Formats: sequence, structure tokens, C-alpha cells
Amino acid sequence: MKTYPMHIGGVPVETGRYLDIVDPALEEPFARVAAAGPEHVNAAVAAARAAFPGWAATPAAERAAMLHALAGALDANMSELMELVTRETGKPLQGLNNVGAGMELGGAIAWTHVTADLPLAPEVIQDNAQARVEVHRKPLGVVASITPWNWPLMIAIWHLIPALRAGNTVVIKPSEFTPVATSRFVELANAILPPGVLNMVAGGGEVGAALTAHPDVNKIVFTGSTRTGKRIMEGAAVSLKRLTLELGGNDAGIVLPGADVQALAPKLFGAGFHNNGQTCACLKRLYVHESQVEELAAELASLASRAKVGNGMEPGIELGPLQNRGQLDIVTALARDAREQGGRFLSGGAARDGKGYFFEPAIVTGLSNGTRLVDEEQFGPILPVIAYRDVEEAIRLANDNPNGLGGSVWSSDLALAAQVAGRLECGTVWINEHGAVQPDAPFGGVKQSGLGVGFGRQGLEEFTSIQTVKIMKG
Ligand code: NAD
Repeated sequence: MKTYPMHIGGVPVETGRYLDIVDPALEEPFARVAAAGPEHVNAAVAAARAAFPGWAATPAAERAAMLHALAGALDANMSELMELVTRETGKPLQGLNNVGAGMELGGAIAWTHVTADLPLAPEVIQDNAQARVEVHRKPLGVVASITPWNWPLMIAIWHLIPALRAGNTVVIKPSEFTPVATSRFVELANAILPPGVLNMVAGGGEVGAALTAHPDVNKIVFTGSTRTGKRIMEGAAVSLKRLTLELGGNDAGIVLPGADVQALAPKLFGAGFHNNGQTCACLKRLYVHESQVEELAAELASLASRAKVGNGMEPGIELGPLQNRGQLDIVTALARDAREQGGRFLSGGAARDGKGYFFEPAIVTGLSNGTRLVDEEQFGPILPVIAYRDVEEAIRLANDNPNGLGGSVWSSDLALAAQVAGRLECGTVWINEHGAVQPDAPFGGVKQSGLGVGFGRQGLEEFTSIQTVKIMKG
């Protein structure tokens, strides 16, 4: 079994203690990653702190050139990294609608190139005979990045590249379930970046908490559950760290009356089930007019029954296993509760016998708000399809949730769809699509789905502080 190190100050670090990383399709370890103790957290933060002045003073164009070189390293090592992502997450190499490990690598490369070139020039607010006023963006210092297990490499890139682009140094702590591709990526990056600019420690919540509490960390960028995000906010208060929190979602989609069911069903299925439903902005609750709910749910169930579920290393697999036993248990418990509440399963709904955390993709009707499967984030391949009587009711039900990450409206009447979209309480709303993000458009949650945004100029600015410079003339 291959062993992967942590990376501190530009060198690989072995610790003699390891995290065993389980392949969720086989339920057996396939790699080990060196695990951090408190001394490694301190050493990584110290290395990042020591590297900060030099990196912050490096001209932006030179930093950008190094980031483009990082994208080149991802490209040159794509097949190896894809395989690591598939083995540690269970996500198929190709996947449903090509949303698999290949897309994770392709997205990571695209995000790196676009983010490297985002402008961060001073803004001139006033320039007249009296004075010139400029707004400058300065790096914050040491950024700690804490990532989840569902898109480990892509989310690492979403955190690291804007942080580095803005002149910060970084310590990343990947999820204890999926640190392998991140370790390999940081190794590749260290051949390009100066020592200490990008460091990696591995471990569970205790390592994340140590970073959150560390007095020499200036900002936390976190993607993960709302529960953990609240803990991080508490921990960060001690030294008033800056925060970007990308948290859980329970995205609603509303299909407006008169929909073309045949045309919409494959798009809705892809939105709900890519990566086995384990994406923050997957479609997680679908509201359909009562006149069409049975027809659309039956179409979705037919797609679910035909989806190819299996080990994502094999060609043609669309849905892999759940990433870990705990997530499979959550999905199984939600399915059980849905049955007890009168939910009708038109497809799937049970864990598969045998090895691997596989779950038969499920379409459930007969439920509404007030049941666990609708109110809670399932983060798995089980979608409630909910009937509504009129559009006002659909909007009310969609907004009746503490989360507010994404939402969607589906209709050929784009004007009506835009009106409804504007009333949804979420950070991103899509019309006739769901969950597609892009590196130049800000993305983040409202309500309890997060604080701040990633991507685009606004996302880059989250890794800076403002310095206003006023120059008096005469
Ligand atoms: P999680 O919150 O359990 O873990 C995320 C990370 O936090 C891991 O690295 C973990 O080790 C670390 N952690 C745990 N306890 C900590 C603590 N006390 N202090 C600091 N760090 C700690 O989340 P998960 O199960 O890995 O990911 C799934 C969740 O992530 C879902 O809710 C999903 O919606 C959300 N998510 C959100 C987005 C987004 O952009 N909004 C993207 C992907 C995933």
C-alpha cells in the first residue's frame, strides 16, 4: 500500500502515524497518509508565516505565472490524479453526464488558469484637484484551508489558488477521508512554488480545530457541513480571523406548470444525482405542479433504475458508492424515515448487499416539507419529488428551509421563471439548469449555507484586506 506524506516548508514529512484511506467501492484501504500531531500544525503555520513576506512581495505577474505552471502540473499528471480521486471518493472516472474525476481535474485546471489572471489592481475612488483616493487590496497573511471529501481536489483548488494569487501563504487540511490527491498535488506544487508557500497537514476535526484556534492563522476558508462551519466560527472568534464558509445546501428546484416532462427529466436527473447526490449544490428537493408530478416522477424513476451503479474505476459507470459508511448510514436512515412517513419509492431506496457503500438511486413521492428527507440535506442518491398546487405555494415551500445555497426554476416561459427565481432565498439561482458553477461568477450561500463567496473578482477579494490610500494634492 502506497504511503503519502504531509508537506511542510517545501519538504515531505512522514510522522510514523497514518490515516488509512479506504476505497469506498471495495471497503478496504488502498493508501496511507501521514497524520499530523499538534507539533506539525505549529510547524506548518510557522513555515507559512516565514514564507509570507517573500511571497507577498513577489510581483503579481510572477505569482500568476507560477499558478499557470501549477495548472500545467495538474494537466501533466491528470490520469494519476483522476485515479487517486476515484479511489478515495468513489466518484467514477467518467460519471453521470461526464461529471466524474475527469471533470474534477478539468475543472481544477480551468479554475487555476482563470483565477491566476483575475485582476486585483487598485481602484481609484477620487482623483481631482484636492486629492486622489485609492483602494488597495493587500494579502491577509496565513490562510488555513479546510476541505470536505466530496470534491477534494477541485475544492482545494477553489481555496488555494485565489489565496495564493492574492499573495497569502497557505496550510491546507484535507478531509481525513480523502487526503491522497491533495498530498500528491501539494507535492507537485512544491516543485514550482517557493518553500513554505503551500503546506499540507492531514488529520481529522482535531487538526482542523487546531488550525482554527492557531493565533498565527489570519483567515480560514472552509467548505463542509453547516455544523462544522458553526464550530469554526466560534473557534475563529478568539483572534477575529477572517472567514469564508461554504456550507451545506438543500437546494430546491421548481418545475413550473406546463413543463415538457420528457425534455426536462434527464436534466433534472443529472442535477440531482451527479456524484451520487454528494455535491453541495445538487438538486435536493424537487417541487412539481400536481398536474405533472406523477408523470415527471415516473420518468425520473425510469432514469434512476437504468443508471449504471458500480465501481467507478470501471468504464461506463455513472454512479459510484457513497464516499463513506457514515454517509451511507445517513441516507439509509432518511430512506427508512421517508417510508414511515408514507413516502412512495418509485425506484431504489436500499443499500446494496456485498462490499462497497452502494445505494440504489431512489425517487420518492408523497412527501412534503416537515419530513426529514425534504427538510434535511440528504447528500446522497435519493430525491423527494413534491407536489404543489400553485406557484405561490411552491415558492413558500422552497424558501421554507434554513439553507440557502442554490435553487432553480424550470420552464420555457423565461420571463415567469425569472420572476420566480428572484423570489428564491439562495446565493445562486439557475433557470433551466442546476448546480453548474464557473470560475468567473461568484458562488456562495445565504442563510445558514455560508458566509462570503468563492470565484470571480468577489471571491478573490475575500483573500485580501482593504487599505485606503488618500493623497492630498497641494
Ligand atoms: P464536515 O463538516 O464533516 O468536514 C469538513 C472538514 O472539516 C473536514 O476536513 C473535517 O476534518 C473538518 N472538521 C471537522 N470538525 C472540525 C472542527 N471542529 N474544526 C475544524 N475543522 C473540522 O463536512 P463533510 O462531511 O466532509 O462534507 C459534506 C458537507 O460539505 C455537506 O454538508 C455539503 O453540503 C458541504 N459542502 C458544501 C460546499 C459549498 O460550496 N457550499 C461544497 C462541498 C460540500
